[in-house]
Amino acid sequence: MLLCGLVVLAAAGAVQTAAAAALPALGEPRKLVEQQHGPAYIVQEDKIHFYTDQQWRELGRKRAKAYGYPLPVREMNSTLWVEYDAQERMATQMVILDGNIKIRNFERYFPGLYADLIANDSAAAVIRSYPRDQFAVGIRSGQASERWVRFFFTNDDPTCLNMHSRIQGFEITEGPPRTIAGPDKTKKIVGCRFNGELGEFPADGTWHRADNYFRPGLYFSERLIPRRGTDIVVIHHAAMPITTSRDDIQDLHLSNGWAGVGYHKLVFADGSVADGRPEQMVGAHAFGANRRSLGIVLVGDFNRERPNSVQLESAARLTLELLKKYRLPVEKVLPHRAVNTDTDCPGRLFPWAEFVQRLRREMKE
Ligand SMILES: [Zn+2]
Repeated sequence: MLLCGLVVLAAAGAVQTAAAAALPALGEPRKLVEQQHGPAYIVQEDKIHFYTDQQWRELGRKRAKAYGYPLPVREMNSTLWVEYDAQERMATQMVILDGNIKIRNFERYFPGLYADLIANDSAAAVIRSYPRDQFAVGIRSGQASERWVRFFFTNDDPTCLNMHSRIQGFEITEGPPRTIAGPDKTKKIVGCRFNGELGEFPADGTWHRADNYFRPGLYFSERLIPRRGTDIVVIHHAAMPITTSRDDIQDLHLSNGWAGVGYHKLVFADGSVADGRPEQMVGAHAFGANRRSLGIVLVGDFNRERPNSVQLESAARLTLELLKKYRLPVEKVLPHRAVNTDTDCPGRLFPWAEFVQRLRREMKE
């Protein structure tokens, strides 16, 4: 509703700092807001009229719809727009960035707000919002009254959100708890697409449950397909340094044009295990065999070095669990190179015979 201010703001703002931004709380008195942020440098009288603070003073009018304060957000000279209620307390706040932030980097810019976004009682929804026919993600923090954070994205297809989507700004409001429709089969967000008729949403917005893209985890850029069966478990190495993180692999696989990380399980050098693609979905790790296999990757490059014993032990334990779960014999555990002959994955230094022997031994126990 305040987005028309964007044009005016492109030229405004003159503060430069490199700090992450702390936002005032809703309900805060105007005095405190202006102590913290200085006087408003731009004033919005109504839907279409904007004034500099000087013009506004010269006009001599009392009440404006919203006040814009300079808000340095790291390298960006952004603006904090505030609307006050009759008691001069902050009723809504909106941040319009002089730039944009990827969802996955949001924490670095707004650490306080990020913590709320990922809290356990937060819930994400997708709405159709005015004035742009654009979806926004709303985050709920379940108290008697709720705060909703509506995000404005830069992407042309607002139905396609993932952790790489770029945020241009957001609005924080407070109100009674909302009900979120869904999961609604006809209006459900499936992967990248809004599945079903868009139609017109009511003016107050219809909210549908959606993935909370701010929570640490994996998001997939397209719809994943359930696997019909599981008759082999394929073992890989990442062929990347042992310091490689799941996010690194996710980024690499997204840049391959895949829906996201292609393995189902990742085993790191310290023995920790992370989930990749949901176990019941078709992976992207062994060409021609993805529809019938689970993929486990050991992070490291085992053409350069051997996996350490902690990592091997963890991988063996995980593999055994999966064999038992899917009622498969040890013979169904294959090195990637046995499925695709153009690779030496999981690496020439991976002790395959030793690994399989260990599985046999422990399977009997
Ligand atoms: Zn492989």
